[in-house]
Amino acid sequence: MVLGAGLVGVACAWLLQRRGHRVLLVDPALAGPPDAMLRNGSRAALGVLMGQVAHRGSGRGWRLRQQSLALWRSWRADLARRGYPIAYRPGLLMLAASGNQLEHQQRLALERQRRGLPLELWSRERVAELDPVVPAAALGGLFSPDDGQLDPGQALDALLADANAAGLGQLADRAVALEPLTGAAGGWRLQGEAGHVAEAEWVVLAAGAATPALLARLGDGGTLATTWPMQPVLGQALELELPAEPANGWRPWPGAVVWEGINLIPRPDRPGGRRLWLGATLEPGREADGAALDPLRSLGGHAPAWLKAAVPVAHWQGLRARPDGRPAPLLEPIAPGLLLAGGHYRNGVLLAPASATWAVEQVEGKPRCSQAMPFDPNM
Ligand SMILES: Cc1cc2nc3c(=O)[nH]c(=O)nc-3n(C[C@H](O)[C@H](O)[C@H](O)COP(=O)(O)OP(=O)(O)OC[C@H]3O[C@@H](n4cnc5c(N)ncnc54)[C@H](O)[C@@H]3O)c2cc1C
Repeated sequence: MVLGAGLVGVACAWLLQRRGHRVLLVDPALAGPPDAMLRNGSRAALGVLMGQVAHRGSGRGWRLRQQSLALWRSWRADLARRGYPIAYRPGLLMLAASGNQLEHQQRLALERQRRGLPLELWSRERVAELDPVVPAAALGGLFSPDDGQLDPGQALDALLADANAAGLGQLADRAVALEPLTGAAGGWRLQGEAGHVAEAEWVVLAAGAATPALLARLGDGGTLATTWPMQPVLGQALELELPAEPANGWRPWPGAVVWEGINLIPRPDRPGGRRLWLGATLEPGREADGAALDPLRSLGGHAPAWLKAAVPVAHWQGLRARPDGRPAPLLEPIAPGLLLAGGHYRNGVLLAPASATWAVEQVEGKPRCSQAMPFDPNM
């Protein structure tokens, strides 16, 4: 049973099902049109897959990123073969806004090139040739051809449609309680808000920013909720329409462009052919602040004239779950038969395939609980 139909939960459900397991996906938003899921992090995401330009080049985070980049390639091919294509635009150009960033990029390029990764340093002159123009203050850039961007809504729909065609079980209800089953086989009983009850040997908790609330309802005295704390961080994003079609139809842009953490993503596939996604804000908490859009729109005072003249045609927001005091994501077997797949913060789209692979390994390896912490429902 998988709780939460964001990209992480749907990827887990899809992969578990493809491995031959019987899966029930539970999410209240499954009842409605996709709009009902607007506030889930996944449908709000921009879909940037930032793998090879990641700051840290070692450790678990790095391995998960590399694994996910490779998995997205094979998952997209697999889904497209069965009639569920996911649009993907390769290439990511990180602009350098300061001397420090330029030096960092130079070090990163050298280090990654030594490992055979195809990162390229672009000179100030080369980035100045881009059309539409990028901020004039850009001192250069780091280009990664193997990173890129996919449409997260389309990815969700493709995985769900493929899993549904193969008989995925769905329950449109909000999980309000989860209790361990007694008996040798173990497992869990779910109580839904609308009165549904379901049982499963394994449960994957993938409810995004709602996961802490679910953890708090596990009947263990709140131990798991305090052991795995997470905070919501809201993000706003915009779809803009350019005043005129870029002279060369975005062709000189090598993919998504990143300026000071803000993503500029050409969407020539959207109506009219001259749209751009711009985002996202980082706002601790659950409430959006309209004023946070100003630095986004103005690129902190560096927006070129074409960007200032672009007209917003859509504005949306979503929540990310950021782990407290631990690196993202939280992939943990937190009790016998209970897997936490949460806290993906800013990289849940990228990391969904590696997270699903981890969940499958747990279920198939049957490590009932690798935590030293015993789970006592009567605590
Ligand atoms: C504006 C924005 C831009 C982003 N851009 C990127 C990006 O470019 N690249 C990237 O990799 N990541 C990006 N992210 C982060 C990414 O979206 C998240 O890390 C990812 O969506 C997390 O997925 P999830 O499945 O864990 O959670 P979610 O997508 O939030 O899904 C959780 C699901 O759980 C369901 N749920 C809640 N409570 C319950 C319950 N009690 N019972 C059952 N189901 C429940 C909800 O309805 C929801 O559908 C962005 C996020 C935002 C907000």
